[in-house]
Amino acid sequence: MGVSYIDFKEVDATTYDAIVVGSGFAGAVTARQLAERHGCRVLVIEKRPHIAGNMYDEYDDAGILVHRYGPHIFHTNEQRVFNYVRQFSGWIAYQHHVLADWFGTYMPVPFNKNSLEIAFGEERAAQLIAKLVDVFGDERKVTINELREQQDPDLAEIADFVYKNVFLYYTQKQWGQTPDQVDPSVTARVPVFISRDDRYFQDTYQGMPALGYTALFEAMLGYDGIDVCLSTDATSVFELVFQDGDEDARLSAIKVKDTVFTGPIIYSGPLDELFVGRFGRLPYRSLDFVYETYEQEHKLPCGTVNYTVSEDYTRITEFKYLTAQSAPNTTIMKEYSRAYEDPETQIPYYAIINDENRAHYERYLDMTKSLSNFFPLGRLAEYRYYNMDRIISLALDLSAEIGDKLAAGEMRVER
Ligand SMILES: Cc1cc2nc3c(=O)[nH]c(=O)nc-3n(C[C@H](O)[C@H](O)[C@H](O)COP(=O)(O)OP(=O)(O)OC[C@H]3O[C@@H](n4cnc5c(N)ncnc54)[C@H](O)[C@@H]3O)c2cc1C
Repeated sequence: MGVSYIDFKEVDATTYDAIVVGSGFAGAVTARQLAERHGCRVLVIEKRPHIAGNMYDEYDDAGILVHRYGPHIFHTNEQRVFNYVRQFSGWIAYQHHVLADWFGTYMPVPFNKNSLEIAFGEERAAQLIAKLVDVFGDERKVTINELREQQDPDLAEIADFVYKNVFLYYTQKQWGQTPDQVDPSVTARVPVFISRDDRYFQDTYQGMPALGYTALFEAMLGYDGIDVCLSTDATSVFELVFQDGDEDARLSAIKVKDTVFTGPIIYSGPLDELFVGRFGRLPYRSLDFVYETYEQEHKLPCGTVNYTVSEDYTRITEFKYLTAQSAPNTTIMKEYSRAYEDPETQIPYYAIINDENRAHYERYLDMTKSLSNFFPLGRLAEYRYYNMDRIISLALDLSAEIGDKLAAGEMRVER
């Protein structure tokens, strides 16, 4: 069946067992599980004019399937997660490859044995590879900090090369930082892969939904008992009730259409937005995407090219590699990283995670802890970076936990 779309004006909230805010993987998986496994009627509230969250894809004017919120490649080591998404779509096998554009020469990312040969020439690379294998073993990922800890000039040379040519400028563009602002803990994690494996991900299960993500989400949300309200912002339809009527106190209830909603509310939007940024906005990085179509079969040598020493965009993706679409023309997308300044016009993409911002987030989270039927879930509501597979896994767990509570008679909607 197709997705049941409903105008919020027509909604009688008392007829639903659960409300889900957001239709990305956090929201869609939870909605589907609550409806299918636990017999709930679920209302999904989505502020965008379409479902599928950041995974949303559509055909552009040139007839090419493009991702509108950044390129999304599915990869997981969790079989349960892969089996779950496979129910809703056919899948094509796809292994993502990323090349760094290094002064006009391409080298594989993560930096590996093949990259070493390109950067240092075959003879020197052979010496460096022998040293790497000798110290760390073959087919291992080591960080540039681990290389430096060895106090070995060869290994330090590799670490310095990767830092300067693969990591530094890219990271500065991505996070809008100067070199001295780049957190050492981030630098510490930059990997060198002692391998000839040029794939970007090494997960057991990798692929792309055959008809695209939007079609997959339509199959997931097209289920008896799920209604979806598009172009509806939860912050404008939720009325927050605070303990003792004090707006600085914790939440005591959420009203929808003047009635306290007692069923589970799964919220996958930003927590600060819910409280109108009472303690100030949570910091994020945003992105701008610029699309270009070319009358040629392919523009790039692989799915994504990272610009690690030049250009003001971070990377370019050519979707046809990801989607296996066959067409005489192609569309590429350049990604520009931006400061997140205006929630009205920009999208929060990457939480800027550090101790201060985490504490800032915790203040918002604390206001919700008093509400036993409120469940923040997802990259925005938890102020974290999650890959798709992780969020699907968490959504499966959360919906099971909520299902148990409903079965035990908790959080029931009075009718
Ligand atoms: C540029 C980029 C590339 C990525 N590439 C990959 C990749 O290749 N592989 C991978 O595994 N992961 C990737 N990710 C991570 C992936 O996007 C997340 O794992 C996924 O989006 C998490 O799903 P979610 O439901 O938590 O969030 P989202 O997909 O963002 O969904 C949240 C939904 O909530 C809605 N919403 C927000 N506020 C409100 C509100 N107030 N009222 C109503 N609705 C609201 C939003 O409109 C959105 O539809 C990438 C992320 C980014 C930013």
